[in-house]
Amino acid sequence: MSVNKAMSALKVCTRCALPETFPGIKFNKEGVCNMCLEFKGAESERAKKAEYREKFDALIREYKGTGTYDALMCYSGGKDSSHTLAILKEKYDLSVLAVSIDNGFVSEQAFRNIRAVVENLGVDHIFLKPRFDILARIFRHCAENDIYPPKALERASSICTSCMAIVKYSTLRIAVEKDIPFIAYGWSPGQAPVSSSIIKNNPGMVKIMQKSLYDPMYQIVGSEIKPYFLEDKHFKGSSRFPYYVHPLAFLDYNEEVVYKNIARFGWKPPQDTDPNSTNCLLNSFANVVHKQRLGFHPYALEMANLVREGYLDRKTALSRLNEQENPKIVAMVREKLAVKDSSGG
Ligand SMILES: [Zn+2]
Repeated sequence: MSVNKAMSALKVCTRCALPETFPGIKFNKEGVCNMCLEFKGAESERAKKAEYREKFDALIREYKGTGTYDALMCYSGGKDSSHTLAILKEKYDLSVLAVSIDNGFVSEQAFRNIRAVVENLGVDHIFLKPRFDILARIFRHCAENDIYPPKALERASSICTSCMAIVKYSTLRIAVEKDIPFIAYGWSPGQAPVSSSIIKNNPGMVKIMQKSLYDPMYQIVGSEIKPYFLEDKHFKGSSRFPYYVHPLAFLDYNEEVVYKNIARFGWKPPQDTDPNSTNCLLNSFANVVHKQRLGFHPYALEMANLVREGYLDRKTALSRLNEQENPKIVAMVREKLAVKDSSGG
């Protein structure tokens, strides 16, 4: 039996789409999960969103024009980060430095999209390409070993978590060095809650968070990963540490509107990515490994959140979670990473 067949046979919450294999999940008699039962409802979400919109407006009034750029956008080239980049530039009138990381598995269409969006929007852009041999060793290790605690894997596969660590800390390093007051992410409202959509970083906190990701990766490749993280000098100086913001959590969000907005720049959906990513081919392989290892889809929580909060219908969520990854893409990734096909997936 294939992993995907097993997944679609799972009991899932009758209201959102979380499966019985999700850590800590409980169902009531009607088959509704504890997260749905605890959900306070759309009204309370709306009030919280308004509060965070005002908070962001106030921060912009305070910090706009105080750094080399107003915001660094972590720009994957996917639909949500393209949309967020447009919002920062057009709605908030910020000067933005967009930064993309090439992990060796960026879809060719995503490269074209990145170029089209930054050129049409008129923003500066940096492509960062870490050594592929180092990345491949990390991804390969993550495909074959557990290096993060289970809690870290509830919203992303361990391959994505490692890749995101490099994205997160190499962009933070750039923002600190260039004195940029905001780092923006394009997380969808399902990926990260409103309550975490504006976070003030401080050196002490960053140091602890960074260590939890740096140490496991250091174990794999040693000090080669140093350039992608902050070093002692960044913590010791009087540098300003930026705010993290993910504006899609407190703004209106609708996938159709997102696609329409970015089509203005010539953004086109890649045909080779899985339904949960609009930029990265590694994602398909990471999903297969995660399902095999942990028994639930790494996007299950995001999809369930989107359903619960009314952004996505449950049927679409379930079909995305049950869709089989493209075997050709998965095989391409395996070959490029030199991972043995032992999963049968
Ligand atoms: Zn539920």
